[in-house]
Amino acid sequence: MIPLETPSFPSRLPQVGTTIFTVMSALAAEHQAINLGQGFPDFPCDRKLIADVNGAMLADRNQYPPMAGVAELRHGVSEKIKTLYGQHYDADTEITITAGGTQAIFTAILSCVGPGDEVIIIEPAFDSYRPAIDLAGGKTIAISLEVARDESGQVASYEIPWDSLAKAINPKTRLILFNTPHNPTGMVWDKPDLDRLAALVRNTSVLILSDEVYEHMVYDGAKHHSIASHPDLAARSFLISSFGKTFHVTGWKVGYVAAPHSMTKEFRKVHQFNVFTVNTPMQYGLASYLSNADHYLNLPAFYQAKRDFFRLGLSQTKFKLLPTPGTYFQCVDYSSLNIPQAKLNEADFCKWLTTEIGVAAIPVSAFYDQATESGVIRFCFAKQEQTLAKALERLQTL
Ligand code: PMP
Repeated sequence: MIPLETPSFPSRLPQVGTTIFTVMSALAAEHQAINLGQGFPDFPCDRKLIADVNGAMLADRNQYPPMAGVAELRHGVSEKIKTLYGQHYDADTEITITAGGTQAIFTAILSCVGPGDEVIIIEPAFDSYRPAIDLAGGKTIAISLEVARDESGQVASYEIPWDSLAKAINPKTRLILFNTPHNPTGMVWDKPDLDRLAALVRNTSVLILSDEVYEHMVYDGAKHHSIASHPDLAARSFLISSFGKTFHVTGWKVGYVAAPHSMTKEFRKVHQFNVFTVNTPMQYGLASYLSNADHYLNLPAFYQAKRDFFRLGLSQTKFKLLPTPGTYFQCVDYSSLNIPQAKLNEADFCKWLTTEIGVAAIPVSAFYDQATESGVIRFCFAKQEQTLAKALERLQTL
């Protein structure tokens, strides 16, 4: 420790402490629990991708790339979006490579939100949204997904609260954060949802940030409805995605933002002094790997097999399974268990599950700012089948 006294200063984020993800991962390690908490794969990425990055390093592509990202990768992203969602983004003026989805979200918010601006988020929401809005000086207006329940009172699914959203929009609203497929619920918003969102913001100056980092994880033959597939919305949206999720390399932290030219211009002003640019060999490697569409088109089948395996195992427990049309998260309602712990709040239930049963999960309450308990926890199934099988063996004792 530094022995001298450090001057104190007001925290810019006084509310922020250690996140539940860190707490649960530490608890999982301490108790040798199987970690289905934090969302990351426990299997390796394709060796071809590693070889592509290695090749770029050995070819001495190790100096600063252009500020907006390597041209080959921006063109690859542009082509992918055009093919999948039908919208053309200019690779030079409308696509920027970022240090993962998190930096893209942070920079997008900083580029358009200022003091006095309101930003609407829909909880449960990814934990980086609120601090980014705070640091920009904006005001977070949180509304909650509607929880649909079955006859026995257990959570059945989630819906966007359109009336609350309509009421929350006012002349101070600068931005709405939208997320599909949705973390933590696994819900996938549909074309009619995009139509309703478009109707709400028509004739306003409200911008949209569409967090689509799980875009390639949509199951049962369903389609991902990107903001890019909706021209009215695309004209006022930052579209954000992450190669970390798509290619099983969450530690590489490379993602992108696609947005109309005028929005990209402001985004890049902040990006330039935020990270300036993103590491070069990863970008070349990703550009080469992305050029084979099979590498992302095969992802739904790959993860659907894991989802189905995990759900089949869970169906032999008393957990009530929520639908998982997308993402690599499976939510369950534990209030159906015939044990005293079924009455615990979500965080305490997860701690108990980790320390006593040996499986770590994340309480959905961690995705709300105000205490909100619905008896639902989130498992991540981006794991090898043997990891899932071991976790299921333990969960089946409940
Ligand atoms: N948005 C959502 C909804 C996420 O779940 C995550 C990652 N957990 C991110 C953004 C951030 O992506 P990245 O790891 O590329 O920063």
